[in-house]
Amino acid sequence: MPSVRCHDCGRSFPFRERKRCACGEPLRFEPRELPRWPDSSNPGMWRYADLLPVDAPSGIGAAAGGTPMVRTPRLDVGGVRLFLKDEGRNPTGSFKDRGSAVAAAYAAENGIDRLGTVSHGNMAMSTAANAAGAGLDCTVCVPSDIPEERLSHIARYGPEILRIEGDYGRLYEASLELEGIEFVNSDTPLRVAGQKTVALEICEAFSPEIPDAIVLPVSSGGQLSGIWRALSELREADLIESVPRLYACQAAACAPIVRAFEAGEESVSAVEGGETIAYSIANADPPSGNRALGALRDTDGGAVAVPDEETRAARKRLAREGGFRVEASSAVAYAGLERLVERDEIASDERVVTVLTGSGFTESDGAAVDARTIPLDELADRFGRSA
Ligand SMILES: *Cc1c(COP(=O)(O)O)cnc(C)c1O
Ligand SMILES: [Zn+2]
Repeated sequence: MPSVRCHDCGRSFPFRERKRCACGEPLRFEPRELPRWPDSSNPGMWRYADLLPVDAPSGIGAAAGGTPMVRTPRLDVGGVRLFLKDEGRNPTGSFKDRGSAVAAAYAAENGIDRLGTVSHGNMAMSTAANAAGAGLDCTVCVPSDIPEERLSHIARYGPEILRIEGDYGRLYEASLELEGIEFVNSDTPLRVAGQKTVALEICEAFSPEIPDAIVLPVSSGGQLSGIWRALSELREADLIESVPRLYACQAAACAPIVRAFEAGEESVSAVEGGETIAYSIANADPPSGNRALGALRDTDGGAVAVPDEETRAARKRLAREGGFRVEASSAVAYAGLERLVERDEIASDERVVTVLTGSGFTESDGAAVDARTIPLDELADRFGRSA
């Protein structure tokens, strides 16, 4: 039985004995070993299987990670050299597949037959798809007022879907205590173990150098904690000389981590979250908020809140000047980068990785489309005819 350790007080427990530390903070797996750049022909993120709590699976889980990092000069901001880590290329269109793949592989190997998750978006799709691919049952708990369209994206993979009435934030913790089902919520150890691999891929691509900063959209803080953990272990193993600065971007309507960072607070407290188009990152009471705060301070990074108008403009620019179709939550990171450059927190010659966390293919822009109808015979009048 692998053991898990508290991020904060350092106590350790056998995995699955408890879901969170007695102090309330999340638990993480002890690494099997310190990282080294692997000599592996495994696909995608399974290149780093030696550092994960389970071996590479077959099926859809094997296809997670290994996403392209694309240098995109057309989208550079004020002289900053931008690299986009395109997590939309994962099997269900978001980085959540990294954690879901680890969870499904672990469950399949350890006689756990049902995965669960609390999500109304990418994590629900991802957990359901990876459970299906590993032959596991799956239960997804969604808020009772979820839009039908989003529900249909989740339902396609055939999970049991339960609409939960009551406080959705409390459900996160309550679900972890249930028997007979392994809930892999945003910051549970299996999920965070998988999400470390995005940082390993980024650093290996830059090796022996490092990017100056990594900018990403943050909600529960699960992904940021995983990245921070991976960077710390790479540093400990002397594979990187120093750690890139980490920057968290949130929607202004729901920005508890940014608020705590700016106020110089020790821990993140819940806010009254408002509506935002970036619904994938609208967690008003982030379970790994304190981890996220630690990551930003420890790496000398920062935090930035972005209003929806800037997110819309960033989403448009990513698509129209770069060809990237991302969901609003991912565009928050690009809008955040623009603000960080303007505030001189990121300097003009630096190399920055922005994580495009999720594809926009399941999301509509909601804007009217300008497309005229013209008769075929008039097409040549519009363009002229060759020869
Ligand atoms: C889940 C998600 C996030 C936020 O990740 P956390 O680990 O909850 O902080 C950001 N972007 C997208 C597209 C997501 O699905
Ligand atoms: Zn603890």
